Amino acid sequence: MPTKTEPRAKSGEVAFIDLAAQRRRLGGRIDEAIARVLAHGRFIMGPEVAALEDELAEFVGMRHAVACASGTDALLLPLMAKGIGPGDAVIVPAFTFAATAEVVALVGATPVFADVRPDTFNLDPESLAAAIATANATGLRPAAVIAVDLFGQPADYKGIETVARAHDLWVIADAAQSFGAQSDGKQTAACGDIAGTSFFPAKPLGCYGDGGAIFTNDDGMAALLKSIRVHGGGKDKYTNVRIGTNSRLDTIQAAILLEKLRIFPDEIEARRKVAARYNDALADTVATPAVAGGATSVWAQYTIRTPRRDHAAAHLKARGIPTAVYYPTPLHQQPAFANYPVVENGAPVAEELSNQVLSLPMHPYLEPVVQDRIIDAVRGAVS
Ligand SMILES: *Cc1c(COP(=O)(O)O)cnc(C)c1O
Repeated sequence: MPTKTEPRAKSGEVAFIDLAAQRRRLGGRIDEAIARVLAHGRFIMGPEVAALEDELAEFVGMRHAVACASGTDALLLPLMAKGIGPGDAVIVPAFTFAATAEVVALVGATPVFADVRPDTFNLDPESLAAAIATANATGLRPAAVIAVDLFGQPADYKGIETVARAHDLWVIADAAQSFGAQSDGKQTAACGDIAGTSFFPAKPLGCYGDGGAIFTNDDGMAALLKSIRVHGGGKDKYTNVRIGTNSRLDTIQAAILLEKLRIFPDEIEARRKVAARYNDALADTVATPAVAGGATSVWAQYTIRTPRRDHAAAHLKARGIPTAVYYPTPLHQQPAFANYPVVENGAPVAEELSNQVLSLPMHPYLEPVVQDRIIDAVRGAVS
């Protein structure tokens, strides 16, 4: 049986994200980590969960990491903890994954969509200010903003925080795609007033199922989040002092993440090299992704822009090269969100991006020979 990457290096199907290559690198370590959990049997909140929380907090330089069941919950639990609900507006970018806005609606608050910047694809602080005005005009109380680090690049935290401070907004960093990236020397999971990330398998640091974590320096907030993730537990688990939910990270997933975290810095560097190679080879052909000054990306996606996007995708597909469109529809145009407010001057950048973006295969184990094939195909598609 050929393995998944080597024989197809020169022809055949390319992997969009090659988790099998990482699995080969980790060898028996994952199996051993899982076997240890099977042996001790503490599948819920076992010792690996606390160990992972300590390592994650240290990695990002925060006092607390609170593991939870998913990246979606890593945004939902902070909203619950803060008591954000009906009558509150939470500003979100229109160009992001559905979870960013969905959690706002889930707590009964109103997502208000703002536009993004054409260069970084991230929330435009000017549009944030305009969206706050839109929320006020609609009779809502602007309570928070969720800044998304799209495709692995930090949002403009300086610009966003300046606007947020002036209007007394709580800043939630949606670092689901950016874990390990830095903004002015600070980890994205340490940005904003609170940050959440995802360990979905395809994220830069992924487990083998669902998982997430929340980061805060506030002891009281950390205690609140730990209560909410186990049904609002109080002094013991059968005393419920608030409405919570079930949002624990499985011990097995924590054990897997502990192993993956060891090679993560090395993988970030490998991703950076792959992105630099794409940049060099494609910058004269398509709009390559721009990383803002003072920021680093973990390249969750490598996303180009071209007006001939659909043609390019078909051209690559015919050559065995998978691509993806994140996101084909901006959230304010999705049926589920159609009735929520959009910033007064609309989100034309988000709309244009959804017609032009194309994400290329991107992972730390992308070999130069395979990458050259992808580069040649992209150049052939748009020339
Ligand atoms: C993946 C993702 C989430 C949600 O994470 P899950 O672990 O899939 O629940 C939230 N926001 C963004 C921007 C994401 O990419």
